[in-house]
Amino acid sequence: MLTIVNSKPAIAYLQSKEQQALMDKCISTNALKVISRLKKANFKAYLVGGAIRDLLLEKHPKDFDVATDATPEQIRKLFKNALIIGRRFQIVHIRFGREIIEVTTFRGKHTPTESTKKSKTSAISEEGMLLRDNVFGNMEEDAERRDFSVNALYLDPDKGAIYDYHNGIDDLESKSLRLIGDPDTRFKEDPVRVLRAARFVSKLQFKLNDETINSMKAHAPLLQKISPSRLFDESLKLYNAGFGERMFRQLCEFELLPYLLFDHEALTDEQSLARKLANCALKNTDTRLSQGKSITPAFIYAVFLWPSVQRLMDSHLAQNVPLFSAFHLAATEAQTLQGQITHIPKRLQTAMREIWELQFRLTQITPKKAARTITHPRFRAGYDFLLLREEAGEIPTEFGPFWTEYQIKNPIPDRPNRQHRPRKPRRRPDKP
Ligand code: ATP
Ligand code: MG
Repeated sequence: MLTIVNSKPAIAYLQSKEQQALMDKCISTNALKVISRLKKANFKAYLVGGAIRDLLLEKHPKDFDVATDATPEQIRKLFKNALIIGRRFQIVHIRFGREIIEVTTFRGKHTPTESTKKSKTSAISEEGMLLRDNVFGNMEEDAERRDFSVNALYLDPDKGAIYDYHNGIDDLESKSLRLIGDPDTRFKEDPVRVLRAARFVSKLQFKLNDETINSMKAHAPLLQKISPSRLFDESLKLYNAGFGERMFRQLCEFELLPYLLFDHEALTDEQSLARKLANCALKNTDTRLSQGKSITPAFIYAVFLWPSVQRLMDSHLAQNVPLFSAFHLAATEAQTLQGQITHIPKRLQTAMREIWELQFRLTQITPKKAARTITHPRFRAGYDFLLLREEAGEIPTEFGPFWTEYQIKNPIPDRPNRQHRPRKPRRRPDKP
């Protein structure tokens, strides 16, 4: 499919018919619009990152990223629908309805003097972690700042040319996930790359070499220095990308769970109830996503923390705290402990608590209570949660079938559509 010219960088040309088909079918027209407007204003602009990787692997890209030599301010001036976000790593979000095209300015090298000054553009901690990465550069330097060779491919859609500075196309062919540069340095600069490595291994089913795996394990403890908000954003990508079950196994294999979940021991043990419950939930999430159904991160976190909530609740009950208070104390404790690792937004914490609370209501049935329970706004999630508990063998299969039948006989009345509120832009982008 590709004609490769061995220049530096190597350039791969898409053959024109296929190129056209690829463009028509897979590339977001909004991304193409962004590139074309930047070029008209005499800037360079390329489609970059995961989208090219996925297109070459004949997978559907999840999102489209554009790289340019225009600065964030210059980009903003060109697009009314643009918003500069992030401080540590400034990027521009250009919104087209529900789609956001992420535009980044080519990153450059950090010079030691700039970094030690802790300027607005560059800051590096003593351990080598990039605290601020807003030094701009050219395309070649930008390629070097990217994480993996397969993520450093740049497509010029007009020429149908892919620029490959780090043998990314060869690595795609041999299914290798290769970090650009020295693994130790790159993981130190940004420990989130450890999670990204695990995610791409799982998503693409690519291989990592032993040196990289050892370096990942050695640098994983640095994840404790990453802010809980950024870790939460990264975690969602792990569990909600459609291959959560496989991903979770990979996280356990790479010994990364301690940096993501506070009660990780039970979850690592394949025979534990906690793990069985997590597996059922992850499988369920993967299926829902493949069917185009909606998911909420509250659900998976409710599953991960449920065994801890019960354990904490038992210890309060043992001290004669009444059930309702014991539950609320335990829920708060579990959410606080988890929040120290991954910050869970308040609205999701509320949803988790409702799902947990419903477990009591769904398992204490009287006709009057059932009629009320089914109208609970979170009934569906609570019911799904109950089914998982039964499937995992935590409780006998008894109440699930009751509620399944109850819903057939008493269909849930349609709730008025909640008005769609646009999501707030992320405060902290996920790139270093
Ligand atoms: P996907 O969107 O499928 O999850 P992606 O590779 O596009 O994968 P994004 O998070 O969208 O991942 O990032 C876009 C690109 O930005 C990446 O392909 C990579 O080139 C670069 N990038 C993102 N995060 C980092 C990082 N932590 N370090 C270096 N480069 C990064
Ligand atoms: Mg992407």
